[in-house]
Amino acid sequence: MIVMKFGGTSVESAEAIERVSKIVGSRSKESPVVVVSAMAKVTDQLVAMGNKAASGDSSEALTSLAALRERHRDTAKALLGEKRAAALAPRLNAHIAELENFLRGLAAVRELTPRGSDYLLSFGELLSSLIVADAFIVRGLSAAWVDSRECLVTDATHTRAVPQMGATREKSKKKIGPLLTKKRIPVMGGFIAASQEGVPTTLGRGGSDYSAAIIGAALDADRIEIWTDVEGMMTTDPRLCPGARTIKRISFNEAAELAYFGAKVLHPLTLLPAIHQNIPVYVLNSRNLKSTGTEITAQTPHSSDTFRAITAKKGISIVNVVASRGVGVHGFLRSVFEAMDRHAASVDIVAISEVSMSFTIETKRLPDALLKDLEEIADVTCENEQAIICLVGEDIHGKPGIAASVFNTVANAAVNIRMISQGASEINISFVVQESDVPRVVRHLHDYFFPANTRAGAGSAKMKKTGITRKPANGSGTKRSQRSSNGRSALSAKRAAAAAV
Ligand code: ADP
Ligand code: ASP
Ligand code: MG
Repeated sequence: MIVMKFGGTSVESAEAIERVSKIVGSRSKESPVVVVSAMAKVTDQLVAMGNKAASGDSSEALTSLAALRERHRDTAKALLGEKRAAALAPRLNAHIAELENFLRGLAAVRELTPRGSDYLLSFGELLSSLIVADAFIVRGLSAAWVDSRECLVTDATHTRAVPQMGATREKSKKKIGPLLTKKRIPVMGGFIAASQEGVPTTLGRGGSDYSAAIIGAALDADRIEIWTDVEGMMTTDPRLCPGARTIKRISFNEAAELAYFGAKVLHPLTLLPAIHQNIPVYVLNSRNLKSTGTEITAQTPHSSDTFRAITAKKGISIVNVVASRGVGVHGFLRSVFEAMDRHAASVDIVAISEVSMSFTIETKRLPDALLKDLEEIADVTCENEQAIICLVGEDIHGKPGIAASVFNTVANAAVNIRMISQGASEINISFVVQESDVPRVVRHLHDYFFPANTRAGAGSAKMKKTGITRKPANGSGTKRSQRSSNGRSALSAKRAAAAAV
């Protein structure tokens, strides 16, 4: 069997769902299980409605809910025709009514908890998956809607729940196995799951990719297909750089690194279940029925490009922690790491000197309580609106001059680097710049390492020609005296966590 996941833009309208049904039809002999996201922008709209209602303004939230209801109704009518749409309407309306009650309740209590947020956001995928399943049936595919909350089991870490693979495997096999035996096509919402107690949870924004991989691993899929709005994983985000091109083949390690460091095309944890069970993953374009996209497997394909791709992860804070006078080095570092551990802080890049330490962390994951704890032992400053730029490639080991060419290119873009990281066993070079510099620096790096009209290798060829020395040209603003550690530690920790579930 195979898992096919379709993202928000792939199910954004009746036409898009029509294309999805053709794509799934073309794979019907391979026993597909279909995972769909909420229709494009719906999750953002639910977040906005929740915030409005929690601020006490239920009327604006309910107006948005009416628009959401119309959009789903119209899409159902266009796909199913009046009669069949009328038959589906009670199920859609029941969800809308639940949402309405919830929003009114929020306006009364004026608090949206993480648990409430998961409940609220679950409706996007519930609504879209019901429509898609019926659209398939009308088009002659033997689809069966499946409630993901009865298959995917997680812990109770609301808004980014951790899958419990043992229980998920058991429940999914029980629920989905018999459908596949009867040659049915199960259709389920991505992103949503439930705790052991049956309380709805979500896997974090963009989590439908992760759902697909979890279901693929639970059912021992032969292949996981992630259908999206671009032609596979690309050398960089095509929205940042129109010259970005599709990567035909990439290793699990490289793709996981890219996803972790900001390639939005895959949820950061998507590849973990696939790696664990060595299931190939394909990233494909749902607007192109013949898409061949990107193949992600355990092998590292040969490429003469220096790097496989460049990513940018925005919304980063740099936290600088400087030991108060009289604190010993040993005690200082231990206290900082202990504070991070207490607050489960997931840190990307770390730079350490004798009496100071800087680290990066996603701003939305930086607990105030951590800053307060650190202030007890050190002087703390925090800089927001930073971004991590990451260049990934398994072939960069032992090749002299690569870092120099990266930093020369950044210098040519007149961009200041704040922190640098390249560990000994790394497959990436990452550094921190101001968020506003991201488009400029990514374009310069992409032009250099992936020049137009050259399929591969021009970056490395150019590097040799310019005779770059090993001394970085642009050290300005960089903590050069500090040794840099790496984001890999964060990724490895996440991998270990996933292996443990
Ligand atoms: P979906 O709704 O299908 O899940 P997303 O919007 O989550 O789609 O992800 C697809 C988007 O990811 C693309 O439109 C693209 O702008 C962005 N993206 C960022 N980095 C990359 C990359 N390296 N390769 C491909 N797409 C990327
Ligand atoms: N609908 C969810 C989101 O927008 C999950 C997903 O699209 O993958 O975050
Ligand atoms: Mg996505």
